[in-house]
Amino acid sequence: MKVLTKERDMELKLSEAIVVITGASSGIGQATALRIAKRGGTLVLAARRQEALEKVARRCRDLGGKAIVIQTDVTREEEVQALAERALQSFGRIDVWINNAGVYMLSRFENTPADAFRRVMETNFFGYVNGARAVLPQFRRQGHGTLINISSVLGKIGSPLATAYASSKFAVTGFSECLRNEQRDMPEIHVCTILPATIDTPIFQHAANYTGREIQPLPPVHRVVDVAKAIVRCIQEPEDEVFVGLPKPVAALARMAPGLTSRVMARRIRKHFKNAPRPSNSGNLFQSKPPYGRSEDGGRKAKGRRTGRLVAAFA
Ligand code: NDP
Repeated sequence: MKVLTKERDMELKLSEAIVVITGASSGIGQATALRIAKRGGTLVLAARRQEALEKVARRCRDLGGKAIVIQTDVTREEEVQALAERALQSFGRIDVWINNAGVYMLSRFENTPADAFRRVMETNFFGYVNGARAVLPQFRRQGHGTLINISSVLGKIGSPLATAYASSKFAVTGFSECLRNEQRDMPEIHVCTILPATIDTPIFQHAANYTGREIQPLPPVHRVVDVAKAIVRCIQEPEDEVFVGLPKPVAALARMAPGLTSRVMARRIRKHFKNAPRPSNSGNLFQSKPPYGRSEDGGRKAKGRRTGRLVAAFA
């Protein structure tokens, strides 16, 4: 009889998994796709930049995975429905759907153009709603499936100057919790929320900025591979909520004393800015902007997990 160790068993499962990832053209989505491809998984890669997606797909195939590309704007419900349909036509089922596509914006609330605020919500929140609408009926037909929603620590901790972004991520965290409870009648359907701290990705190059100052990632900055690993762990052993880069005591504090962590966050926000001036711009909110920002990381020296200490989080 063939005996499998737990690890080997999990590896086989990943190699058999059909995984849809939105926002796979750069950053966390790309890093996750490559990690799954390395284990032989099958990927359906979605984002607006077709050419960047094709490049990721080629790298996935070189690593031993299968990959197809479907250009999708997640704010358009019909395109997200078409993404699910194409995935099903190609592979017959969907095991994992990762709602990851997102945009970032820094702006004082009163200075934020109304259409920019709305677009952040349309992408970061309604994009995920569109994803869940497209895939959950299929999960229920199949009797299994894992929906992974990428939120943020700003989905638990309020922050000044990131009002639209944090609001969208609070919405994602709440949405995930509600869906999770709604799906409890089917134990093989999971809804997981990933809450990363600052991660070294191109998101800060892509960001909309109405503050008048150049921005930089809010330290400490963590490696993109740490989030990719956490997502893969969730595929194998689903968990309700997983913080990445936030030390456990701070994560516990964020849950127990959200007011206190919010006040600390408010004091730290100045570290998000450089002294250089920067004209207002809408970044990649409304259109994707080649050529920059197609890689997994943002080109910074990100810190490993060990350096994400309590003291750094409150520095
Ligand atoms: P990136 O900017 O590198 O990636 C964002 C991805 O979303 C890109 O692939 C982009 O591709 C895609 N995207 C943006 N708008 C749309 C749209 N309308 N339709 C389809 N795809 C879209 O940033 P990250 O990898 O850092 O971000 C991934 C997720 O992680 C986001 O949800 C973000 O909020 C979250 N996160 C990131 C943190 C960080 O510090 N980096 C911290 C916490 C959470 P394209 O332009 O080709 O459409």
